[in-house]
Amino acid sequence: MLKRYLLSPGPTPVPEKVLLDMAMPMIHHRTSEFSNIFKEVREGLKPIFGTRQDVLILAGSGTAAMEAAVVNTLNEGDKVLVVNAGKFGKRWVEIATTYGLDVITIDIEWGRSVKPDQVESKLIAHPEIKAVLVQASETSTTAYHPIEEIGKIVSLRDETLLIVDGITSVGVYETKMDEWGIDILITGSQKAFMLPPGLALIALSEKAWKFTEKSRIPKFYLNLKKERKSQLENTTSWTPAVSLIIGLKSVLEIMNKEGLPNVYKRHALCAEATRKGLMAMGFELLAKDIPSNSATGIVLPEGFDGGKFVKLMREKAGLTFAGGQDHLKGKILRVSHLGYHDFFDTIIALSSLEIGFSQ
Ligand code: PLP
Repeated sequence: MLKRYLLSPGPTPVPEKVLLDMAMPMIHHRTSEFSNIFKEVREGLKPIFGTRQDVLILAGSGTAAMEAAVVNTLNEGDKVLVVNAGKFGKRWVEIATTYGLDVITIDIEWGRSVKPDQVESKLIAHPEIKAVLVQASETSTTAYHPIEEIGKIVSLRDETLLIVDGITSVGVYETKMDEWGIDILITGSQKAFMLPPGLALIALSEKAWKFTEKSRIPKFYLNLKKERKSQLENTTSWTPAVSLIIGLKSVLEIMNKEGLPNVYKRHALCAEATRKGLMAMGFELLAKDIPSNSATGIVLPEGFDGGKFVKLMREKAGLTFAGGQDHLKGKILRVSHLGYHDFFDTIIALSSLEIGFSQ
């Protein structure tokens, strides 16, 4: 029998208590029982997002929240600036292009972080930019972008939104959406929230809600104005992912029992230990400027077949790591320290890699 360890940056392991809570018999969503749970989780999400705004809970993966951010606030022909520094930066480009936005990019070498003055220069050169779209943590390269500093620049401009994909940063880092000037912050359930995939979470600033008044891009399922109206009444426009929301209640209890500062500290410590351990083994980190506390990427030696290694570790040793995406396929390995992950998981990750690489 293989004992299985999930060490990829999403989906992440789900705590046993959460699995049990989600296994309770199904309840109907148009009941006070569900509304009470929904109200509790909506409140519980605010400190993790660092906002007084409502955090809307949608049924969908993280990309649904990315698409919702674009289609609810922007218009065909709007100029937007994308920090294109990995697979998920590219996804912003793809979504924005799909809806006819005029996309300009800051192209960053995979593994590097954008510099705030690069964003500032583009905003000066193109004052008509309506939104800056960026990842906080670019999971494909394990690099973190300096969101707080970017927020200081973008928030000076009334006509520009800062839209942040926090899919592998919310719940990993202390995030202060309101204070940092983030206008839209999104995440998904299968990362730091320790849940199965299926929930997309999104919060909008007052400034972003004003943009929704002017947005003419067609939307139906992802209509956030409609959704906000429903969620303010502790219900949803469509059938919600009931079991995941029950799981979210359980997750928030676990996170609050640990204490949010301790959650962030644990992520930082496991990340630091992973980086130091892998460097001590002689590996080069992929993220050169600001490595993310959600996962660590290493550059594999020339000629080493990363894809084969990941498969072998999964099938023979029960450990699921993540390989590289797009042009980094086979060339890097990513080790997660995200969500339901403690120091012993870090030790298992490091020791198994040491054994695996020595074979
Ligand atoms: N953005 C980031 C930073 C991610 O890590 C991911 C998923 O790994 C996504 C977007 C896409 O999310 P999903 O696959 O849940 O749609």
